[in-house]
Amino acid sequence: MSDTVAENLTQVLGEIEACRTAALRPAEAVTLVAVSKQQPEARIREALEAGHRVFGENRVQEAAGRWPDLRGDWPGVKLHLIGPLQSNKSADAVALFDVIETLDREKIARTIAAEMEKQDRRPDCLIQVNTGLEPQKAGIAPEDVGDFVAFCREDLGLPLQGLMCIPPLEEEPAMHFAMLADLAEANDLAQLSMGMSGDYQTAIKFGATHVRVGTAVFGARA
Ligand SMILES: *Cc1c(COP(=O)(O)O)cnc(C)c1O
Repeated sequence: MSDTVAENLTQVLGEIEACRTAALRPAEAVTLVAVSKQQPEARIREALEAGHRVFGENRVQEAAGRWPDLRGDWPGVKLHLIGPLQSNKSADAVALFDVIETLDREKIARTIAAEMEKQDRRPDCLIQVNTGLEPQKAGIAPEDVGDFVAFCREDLGLPLQGLMCIPPLEEEPAMHFAMLADLAEANDLAQLSMGMSGDYQTAIKFGATHVRVGTAVFGARA
């Protein structure tokens, strides 16, 4: 990996483009969400200076500490929440993020819906799916996705756009990406957030519309 964030960005965007073309997917089909969690602000500024605008953070508090200022300097930023949501942070999450990728239980979906109403602000929502049924990992079990989609859409009226997953570390990610793509299609959802530094090329083959890449863009985290 090269030293500068700008060079890394060019490299990753080129790789995304090559995979997209190889998979015969249309232009603009894949968005790079640059995961800036636990990265020094100087590196984030390098990415902004290089023209990148879509970022992912996994902690509401960390994001709230720096993005309001960064946004003031660089208009057009889109922020994705990719980490677990807690009820007591949902007001901040709705106020700050443009996409909430981690709806993972009824209670939090209700709280987010109520906050959207209150703030009159409607970030796009994705449901996190626990494709590997890992007990330590958040997410809706694959067999419950249909019911949870209906609950979010019909009962809560959430602006639901897609699904996201984090495959088990020790397994071949392809089968998890394929499963997520099938679930999205079955539920008429267009967006698929899947793939990280180690496996985003594979995720693009299986239809990822958003890849969440941290280390390959910014270098190792602190
Ligand atoms: C940290 C994180 C990423 C980025 O991981 P890298 O391996 O650094 O690319 C992607 N998705 C989620 C949910 C994360 O927490």
